[in-house]
Amino acid sequence: MNSTQVPGEPQDSPERKAPGPAGSTPVIPLGELELIVVSGGVFRIDGGTMFGVVPKLLWDRKIPADDQNRIPQQTNCLIVRSSRGCTLIDTGLGGHLSEREQRNYGLTAPGHPLLRNLAVAGITPEEITTVILTHLHFDHAGGGVVLDQEGVLQPTFPNAEYVVQRGEWMQATAGFPELRAAYPQQNLLPIETSGQLRLIDQETEILPGLYSRVTGGHTQFHMAVVIESQQQRALYAADVCPTEHHLPQLWCMAYDVDPLQTRRIKQQLLGEAVDSDSLVLFDHDPGCAAARIVRDNRGGFTATDRIPAPGLE
Ligand SMILES: [Zn+2]
Repeated sequence: MNSTQVPGEPQDSPERKAPGPAGSTPVIPLGELELIVVSGGVFRIDGGTMFGVVPKLLWDRKIPADDQNRIPQQTNCLIVRSSRGCTLIDTGLGGHLSEREQRNYGLTAPGHPLLRNLAVAGITPEEITTVILTHLHFDHAGGGVVLDQEGVLQPTFPNAEYVVQRGEWMQATAGFPELRAAYPQQNLLPIETSGQLRLIDQETEILPGLYSRVTGGHTQFHMAVVIESQQQRALYAADVCPTEHHLPQLWCMAYDVDPLQTRRIKQQLLGEAVDSDSLVLFDHDPGCAAARIVRDNRGGFTATDRIPAPGLE
């Protein structure tokens, strides 16, 4: 360790490349599948909340904060395209945040970002037959609904079933005052009303080759998704490892309801990813959509073979 390194700090990442152009949609082959990374919107959020107990001195070197202490966060949603159709994992912010929210989160582009970027990728909302929501926070579930002509929120994907962990749905809709801000009900109720909601329990094969993995940590029933095809494997870790900079065990979000569980499960999932040579996808990384993971010489993990994220809007 050299004198400027601090325990737990990720090693420098010289190979990290610039993100692609705004609205770009990186396509990654995985066995007989295609993984397509599509932005569900870029937002800006206080950098401290993304890194929990990590001092600003350290995280600011990785993603520099603006004059309001905010850092850009991507919402790297994932299309899994097979001969059977298109599955979407997470949906980003949606296009119906209030003016105040748009200002606070530094949103600049109007409209529904995921729909705009799907159009760039040549994918229509009707083609999506399954939507998997890793959890129901606004930056993951918000794009699952869209305003219709009358200004009423409807499911964005009319032919899709929306797959959610039963425990997550129960917590999000139970009306607990302490979770009210975490789960805007307007993102959830249209899915239930339309009859498109499919609740699953714990670990299950959602579709052939697509497996839920309940992690806890970020929310009690937060899930990762494992994707397998022809002996190739990818891990959509969602918010237990939202960026490459969260690879070190102690670098976790302040939003986690159980930070110790995030530390435990992240270590386990990343270890499995190394052992199975999985591609790991980062759902909020503004620069890196996906990478291979290797063990570093300090018992931690480091990224290699990075695939750039869609560019910032
Ligand atoms: Zn998130």
